[in-house]
Amino acid sequence: MSATASPQYDLVIVGGGPGGLSAAVYAQRAALRTVLVEKGLPGGQVVMSDEVENYPGFEHISGADLSLKFLQHAQAYDLEIRQQEVTEVEPGLNVHRVHLGDGQVLETHAVILATGGNPRKLGVPGEAEYYGKGVSYCAVCDGFFFRGKTVAVVGGGDTATEEALYLAKLTRKVYLVHRRGELRASKILQKRVLGECKIEVLWHSVLTEITAGDGGVRGVALQDVRTGARRDLAVDGAFIFIGFEPNNQLVPAGVRRNADGYVVTDFKCETNINGVFAIGDLREKYARQIVIAAADGSTAALAAAHYVESKKSVPDVCEAPAGLLSGSAV
Ligand code: NAP
Repeated sequence: MSATASPQYDLVIVGGGPGGLSAAVYAQRAALRTVLVEKGLPGGQVVMSDEVENYPGFEHISGADLSLKFLQHAQAYDLEIRQQEVTEVEPGLNVHRVHLGDGQVLETHAVILATGGNPRKLGVPGEAEYYGKGVSYCAVCDGFFFRGKTVAVVGGGDTATEEALYLAKLTRKVYLVHRRGELRASKILQKRVLGECKIEVLWHSVLTEITAGDGGVRGVALQDVRTGARRDLAVDGAFIFIGFEPNNQLVPAGVRRNADGYVVTDFKCETNINGVFAIGDLREKYARQIVIAAADGSTAALAAAHYVESKKSVPDVCEAPAGLLSGSAV
C-alpha cells in the first residue's frame, strides 16, 4: 500500500465563531494537528448579541461573554490561531491547500469552513449611503446612539423582534415594519413584542427609501403592499434585520450549494469534496442557532478526525518486534 505524504496540518478551520471554536475543541481533543484561521477577532457574529438566552447551560449570557468562553475553552487545549485572511481554499486529491493573505499556504488533510454569513441588505435608496449615519444592522452596536429617539426596525423574524425589544429599552419609540400580517419570529418573541408599548408594528409594509439630512437619517418611506399607498415616517434611525446571506466566497468551485448559496453537506457536515466540511451559518439547514453551529463544529471535527486517520500513512511492512522474528519470544 502506498503511503500518503503527510501535510503540515491535519485540519485547518477557517473562521472563529462558535462553530469554528467548537470544532477546534473537538479537534484538539482528538489530537489533530489543527490551526484555526480568523481574519478578525475570534467570536463570530454572536459577539454582537446583547443577550443570549437559549444556549443550554446559560439562562442569560451576553454574546461577548459566551464568545470569550468558547475562545478560552479552545485555548485551554493550546489551539494554534492565526489572525490572517484566507484568500483561497484549494481542494486537492490527497492534500488541500489554504492560501493566506500574507502569501503562506497551509497544507492539510481536512478543512472545516466556518465562515458564517452577513446581514441581508434591502437594496433601497439611502441604505448604503447612510450606513453608519442612522442605518444599522446591529442594535447592540449602535442602539446607544438612539437613546430617547425614534427608530424603524425592518423584519419580522427572531432577529428583528429581539433587536426591536432591545431598542425599545433605549429609544422613545420603535416602529417594527413587516411586510406581512404575521410575524415569523418565535411565539415567545412575538408575545414580548406585541406586549411592548413602545413598539408599534406596521403590518403589510415595506421600506422603500431612507432619507437623511446633515445630522443623519431623518425618515423612511413605506409602502403598503396591499394598496400600494405610500407613507413617510419621521425616524432618526433605520435598523434592518431581514435575514442573512452565507459568506460563501471561499467555498471552492466544485462544492455543491443550494439556490440561496448555502453549502450542502451530508450528516457529517462533509461537502461533496472529501475532507472539506462546512458548518454553522454557511451550511444549509433548518435553523441558524449558536447551539447548532457548535454542534456542527463537533460533528465536523469528529468526522474530520476519522477522515484524517484514513489518510495517514500506513507503513508498507509492519515491523514486528525482533524477538518475535527470531522466534525467541513466547
Ligand atoms: P429570518 O428568520 O429569515 O427572518 C427574516 C425576516 O425578514 C422575515 O420576517 C422576512 O419576512 C423579512 N424579510 C426578508 N426579506 C425581506 C425584504 N426584502 N423586505 C422586507 N422584509 C424582508 O431571519 P432572522 O430573523 O435573521 O433569523 C435567522 C435565523 O436565526 C432564524 O433561524 C432564527 O430563528 C435564528 N435566530 C434565533 C434567535 C434566537 O433564538 N435568540 C435570534 C436571532 C436569530 P417574511 O416573514 O415575510 O419572510
